[in-house]
Amino acid sequence: MIPFNKPFLTGKETDYIVDAVNSGHISGNGVFTKKCHNFFQEKYEFHKVLLTTSCTDALEMCALLIDIKPGDEVIVPSYTFVSTALAFVRQGAKVIFADSSVNHPNLDVDKLESLITKKTRAIVPVHYASMAVDMDKVMALADKYNIFVIEDAAQAINTFYKGKPLGGIGHLGAFSFHETKNIISGEGGLLIINDEKLAERAEIIWEKGTNRASFFRGEVNKYGWVDTGSSFLPSEITAAFLYAQLEKMDMIQRKRTYIWNLYYNGLLHLSEQGKIKLPIVPEYSTNNGHMFYILCKSLEERKNLIFYLKERGILSVFHYLSLHKSEFYNNIYEGEELPMSDYYTDHLLRLPFYFELKDNEINRIIKHIIDFFD
Ligand SMILES: *Cc1c(COP(=O)(O)O)cnc(C)c1O
Repeated sequence: MIPFNKPFLTGKETDYIVDAVNSGHISGNGVFTKKCHNFFQEKYEFHKVLLTTSCTDALEMCALLIDIKPGDEVIVPSYTFVSTALAFVRQGAKVIFADSSVNHPNLDVDKLESLITKKTRAIVPVHYASMAVDMDKVMALADKYNIFVIEDAAQAINTFYKGKPLGGIGHLGAFSFHETKNIISGEGGLLIINDEKLAERAEIIWEKGTNRASFFRGEVNKYGWVDTGSSFLPSEITAAFLYAQLEKMDMIQRKRTYIWNLYYNGLLHLSEQGKIKLPIVPEYSTNNGHMFYILCKSLEERKNLIFYLKERGILSVFHYLSLHKSEFYNNIYEGEELPMSDYYTDHLLRLPFYFELKDNEINRIIKHIIDFFD
């Protein structure tokens, strides 16, 4: 059986965890956390970063940091993971769902302005499959209407928009290290703070509403409760695992891009025959090989293909279900129909994708897909 995903270990994870345990400091914000922070700050020149226990947590921190209050509106694509919306809904925000583009699951930037009202506080673009949303247009709108941009870059580590790292363009950004992502720590995430006005408070919210971090740097002579917050920081055990992955990031990304290209080239003929559609990488974006998807002609065809591949030992899976039609939001949704989000809900199919996937396995998957369409 070829699974859909398989977490990849570099081999150093358990060594570093042992080091962390032996050091006697296994709570958060220790040596490995600092190593991870330095890695991101040096490699991408992010203004400030904070490890979190998940990308969901990082997004929740964003909602606290920009003081989302009941009645505020936040624009989120409907075709995304629950957390993109939930983090803001928890603070009482009304989510305004944006439709996807015709050519891409990413939100349709050209329709964004029509969703902005006096109550809009933030736009949360999601870089689906690591491919960048057209951020220049998003940032121009944010400037014009004075609203925050929070990049859900959960899938988009080490990906670039016009040479700028994703996660580093909006006021805030978030990565995920969930075991289904490129770089993993089981559960884990990163908050990126690009707007320096938000940096000091981010650290306080991260450390349970206290100024503990600045106390340990010797900047204040006592620490206490100064603001809202929660326990958003991961333990050193998680950070140690993550650091082992970060050290091998270039190798991991190279292999994943290689797999992506094998799929793309192998299925190109089928797409030229008009039988399927392949992902389009926007010209302003790189691609970190997070996922490979195809677009089927109908829900029925996708169901049959999933079954066909499963019978041949290959697990393929569809992805998001439009959030505006979810059980949780459907009843309160007041917006328009979002046909492109529904289109990706019904037509998009993801193929097995993980570091250890072998060339002959990929070729087998491609062959079965071609056979299916013949
Ligand atoms: C994975 C993912 C998340 C959630 O990440 P966690 O680390 O599991 O909280 C959020 N948004 C998107 C787009 C994702 O792909």
